[in-house]
Amino acid sequence: MKPRVGVSACLLGRPVRYDGASRPHAWIRDVLRHRAELLPICPETEAGLGVPRPPVQLVRQGKGRVVMRGVEDHGLDVTARLGRWLEQQQDRLAGLDALIFKSRSPSCGLGSTPLYGPEGEELGEDYDGVFAAWVRSRFPGLLLYDDVMLEDVHQQEAFLALLRKKSGMK
Ligand code: SF4
Repeated sequence: MKPRVGVSACLLGRPVRYDGASRPHAWIRDVLRHRAELLPICPETEAGLGVPRPPVQLVRQGKGRVVMRGVEDHGLDVTARLGRWLEQQQDRLAGLDALIFKSRSPSCGLGSTPLYGPEGEELGEDYDGVFAAWVRSRFPGLLLYDDVMLEDVHQQEAFLALLRKKSGMK
């Protein structure tokens, strides 16, 4: 049986970004798909935010709480909406061996998402996106990667070796 890998859907070329674009990753789309069963996941469209949609960012508000807020419309807060979607994902993700996230996204970034202050000022900290943070806490044994960690052939081979090991341990 092939290993099962969840992938941020925009990395597979799906036009799901806020502006209707995608960010296809050639190796994932053309090579990995022959080695693994890929499960496309887009938290923002699956949560019903639509395409196109207003861009959002991670903002630290009082007492350290981090919310997903509109970049231009500061009154837009989609944190609860994403939270409701997350609570429905436990069973869907339970059989995965790995997950590959799109870097820097407020939903999908894996320790790479810029954090902003209440006035929209950059705080100079990199954070997990809301989906990545949830996956980290719920699935500690999952192999977690992002597109930036799969840029060259050595990184790609190392990922495949880890994936084979992980799925062989099932
Ligand atoms: S980064 Fe994540 S939320 Fe954003 S378009 Fe890609 S899959 Fe969807």
